Amino acid sequence: MKRASLAAALMVICLIVLAACSKAAKEEAPSPTPPPAAKAAEPSPATAPAAPASDKVYVCPMGCEVSDHPGKCSKCGMDLKEENRADVAFVCPVCGFKAAQPGACPKDHTVLTLEIAGKPL
Ligand SMILES: [Zn+2]
Ligand SMILES: [Zn+2]
Repeated sequence: MKRASLAAALMVICLIVLAACSKAAKEEAPSPTPPPAAKAAEPSPATAPAAPASDKVYVCPMGCEVSDHPGKCSKCGMDLKEENRADVAFVCPVCGFKAAQPGACPKDHTVLTLEIAGKPL
């Protein structure tokens, strides 16, 4: 009788151990891997191509300067006037040399005169 109860006790212990083991095994089941962190924002593909030159230019009414941006003349402070780039020319009054920017004629060093659409201001 004593031996039988010992065997029963051992069996119970075995069952408890087995139960504990199986429970532990279940708890150790790998947890689902967390979703990978959101991918870091990718750098924008190749830098945007340089904006094409606008067909507008901003010209000082006095002919001091031509700029690609509106604003005031850096020399005389007047508001720059928007004009079509194709209409703007700096022309030598002596020989007719034309340039896109103010300056002096390379031939006779005369200061170039601003013309808009072929007409002097
Ligand atoms: Zn000016
Ligand atoms: Zn000239």
